Amino acid sequence: MKKLIEWVAVNRNKAFLTVCLMIHIIYIIVFFRLQIRLLAYLNIFSASFYAYYLFIKRDTSEESMVSTYYEIILFSALSELALGPSYGFFLYIVGMSSTIFYLIPSYKHKRFIYQIKGIVSALLTESLIMIGHIRLLDTEQIIGKYQPVFFLTNLGITATIVLAATFFYSRETESVWETLRYNMNHDTLTGLYTRRFLEKHIELIPQNKRRQYVISMIDIDFFKKVNDTYGHEAGDAVLVNVSSCLQETVGTQNLAVRWGGEEFILYFPDATPDIIYPMIEKLRMQVENMVTEVAGKEIHVTITGGVATGLADSNYEKVIRCADEKLYLGKQRGRNCVIV
Ligand code: GH3
Ligand code: MG
Ligand code: MG
Repeated sequence: MKKLIEWVAVNRNKAFLTVCLMIHIIYIIVFFRLQIRLLAYLNIFSASFYAYYLFIKRDTSEESMVSTYYEIILFSALSELALGPSYGFFLYIVGMSSTIFYLIPSYKHKRFIYQIKGIVSALLTESLIMIGHIRLLDTEQIIGKYQPVFFLTNLGITATIVLAATFFYSRETESVWETLRYNMNHDTLTGLYTRRFLEKHIELIPQNKRRQYVISMIDIDFFKKVNDTYGHEAGDAVLVNVSSCLQETVGTQNLAVRWGGEEFILYFPDATPDIIYPMIEKLRMQVENMVTEVAGKEIHVTITGGVATGLADSNYEKVIRCADEKLYLGKQRGRNCVIV
């Protein structure tokens, strides 16, 4: 079942065309057996339409979905005009006017026009039948007793298609939201948290839950030189490698943040500097021994870090500034060091 859902999610248009083809093949058999040839031929026309798109043109694009939409409107209206309103063929137009929204996502606002076209077609058809008393066939004698079966089948098929479209539409929307939420909080290159996320995270901690915390600001030394010597892409590779070291150091309980460019912040929400300093010092040595290989060249970098402590009631921006000042001091003292 899971595999089928995945397949339909990826091949939704193909799945839709296949379902339509199957419905028409069944109706060809049904109407031939009932000897209502006009509707059997109408279904042969529709089935050929889907077979052409599926097997000859092999076109499951959004444009083909629009053609499908018109085919369904035509089929429903003609079946309705032939048999009357009690067989439920108009339900296909109604169902499709919502399903089309899912099938042609890139049409954006234009989708509403298609919906309106469907609704107007349904209203026109029903008006012709109910006010104009138009009925193309007199088949009541032959299929009157099957009327509930027709109505319920058409209702069941339409409801299932609308339900499926809604299910896949919300599944897709949810996954888009998830990606969006992830991208808002994570840096795309390094996967670390963003500056915005850290600021929001700290501000959202309730005052009574704030404890002593440690913030460390880290900056890669002479990073401009890396870019200038090996190229921007090599610089990116170094950023990714350093970021994995930072992530490894903070683990899952603390946060590693890309503050900007080649500057990072490590946030330890419930810690003291005597515990954190050795961790940052170990990280510094780890980066010093780290090698990034790009196009056969070995790149070595070092980092400088500043460590500052915040109390429960401290303004975190001040603590960050303090860590930055320590970092600056480290740069002045020759880089590749950690200042507490
Ligand atoms: P210092 O030791 O004083 O920190 O020197 P530095 O060269 O590291 O510092 P500077 O601020 O002069 O240079 C930082 C460089 O980082 C400049 C910029 O081009 C580079 N940079 C910023 N973001 C990125 C990025 O996403 N990818 C790459 N490859 N480089 C970046
Ligand atoms: Mg730097
Ligand atoms: Mg910098």
